[in-house]
Parts: sequence; structure tokens; C-alpha cells
Amino acid sequence: MDHQINASSSTTTLDVLASLGVDAADLKAVWYAFPMAMFVTPDHFGDELEVTATALRTYDAGDCMADALLNVVNELRMATECTCTFGHEGGYQIATILGDICTKKGKPSDLALIRDLAPVMEAQALCDEGKAIARAALQGLELFGPEVEAHITKKTCPAGSCKAYMTYHVLVSRCTGCGKCLKACDDKAIMGKARFVHVIDQRKCSQCGDCLPVCPEKAIVMAGAKKPKTPPRPIPCKRKK
Ligand code: SF4
Ligand code: SF4
Repeated sequence: MDHQINASSSTTTLDVLASLGVDAADLKAVWYAFPMAMFVTPDHFGDELEVTATALRTYDAGDCMADALLNVVNELRMATECTCTFGHEGGYQIATILGDICTKKGKPSDLALIRDLAPVMEAQALCDEGKAIARAALQGLELFGPEVEAHITKKTCPAGSCKAYMTYHVLVSRCTGCGKCLKACDDKAIMGKARFVHVIDQRKCSQCGDCLPVCPEKAIVMAGAKKPKTPPRPIPCKRKK
């Protein structure tokens, strides 16, 4: 969530959050916008710092930090008209890599590439925003590396927020076997027959979401990191229409 803040020569993140009426206990990170361009995690909320930014963003457990990093990198890219090779091209490369990671196209070499590129970019970029992109990328990976990496190695978004990693499931307790979802699925990813609990084949499902609104029982749900238990094949419905 974005907030406007006042500059202060010496304060703490806890004090800034208190002045905004935000409960620090609910947060996993704070981002101070440019020119600070830095993340602060709860273990440093009590540290003294000079606040030169006029905007702050808060993140809670439901926010994905790979997506957060992508957003701040893109905002910094938009904030400068500098076209130097390292600032412009480096920012583009980092944003492309993070975009791929958030959309299930990340590769095992991606994080090493950012870690190699960012220090060179910070040293060589001509504009302050370009240098800030490099610092933000490095700091983001240092603080949230395992969460970002899980998108690549475990093919999951731990926060359950990136749409590309959401999966669709039919809840056994709610399905009446009416067959409406089966007809709505162009990918033929749904298995079932009358009065049997329908089952979504995750290998065939393209996560289009077309089945979600057609189910009269609200039996189809989206899931992030935590998946509901479903049978491998259709089973007789317990629930009657
Ligand atoms: S999300 Fe789309 S592809 Fe997946 S089961 Fe539903 S309709 Fe089929
Ligand atoms: S999931 Fe919904 S639409 Fe599909 S068979 Fe079950 S009740 Fe019908």
C-alpha cells in the first residue's frame, strides 16, 4: 500500500508507520521511494534513518517480493529519461528478468545474472535512478532471495500472489457433478461425469479462469502456495443438488 510521508532528518521506520496509523506487526517490508530507493525489513524498523523520500510502500504476507522488486525497478526506469547504456539497458535487462520470474519463465541462471550485472550498472550508470535500480535489485535479492528463487526452483509464488503460479481446483465438499465447468473448459483440462466430483488436470490447465464463474456451487477455487486436497480422478459426489 502506498503512503505519502514527510521528510525527516532523523526518525525510525516504526515512527513513520505510527504516524501513518499502520501496524508494523502486519508487515514484512517497507520501501522508501527515490531518492532513498531502499527496502527496510522488520528487524531494522527501529533503526534511525534520514528520510528524504516523500512516499513509502508497505508489504504484508500476501505481497510477493519478486513482483514488488519488479514494480520498483519499473518505477525507477520510468522516472528517468537517461539513455546511457548501463542505466537504460541495465534497467531493461533487470526488469525483463524479474518479469520472467513473475510469469513462470524464470531460469536458474537469472539471479546470478542480476547479481553480476547490478554492481557494474551501479558503477557505470550516469543517472541516479539507474544507480538506484542496481542498488534496489541487489538489496531485494539479498533480503528476499529465497522468496524470489522459489518462483524458479519450486515453481511457486510463496506469497500466493503471482497470477501465473495460481492453480485452479474443484473442492470435493462443494461439487455436485453438474458438468457446467467441463463444458466451459476449452483446454479439456477437466475430468468428470454426472454426479461425480470433477477434477482439474494441472498439466493441461492453462489457468485461463473460464471455469470459475460458471460453477453454480462456487466449488472451483484458485490457490497459491497452499493447495486444497483433491482426488486424482473423479469420485462419486457426496453433495447432492
Ligand atoms: S482454468 Fe481454464 S484451463 Fe484450467 S480448468 Fe478452468 S477452464 Fe480449464
Ligand atoms: S465444479 Fe462446479 S460446475 Fe464443475 S461439476 Fe462441480 S459443481 Fe458443477
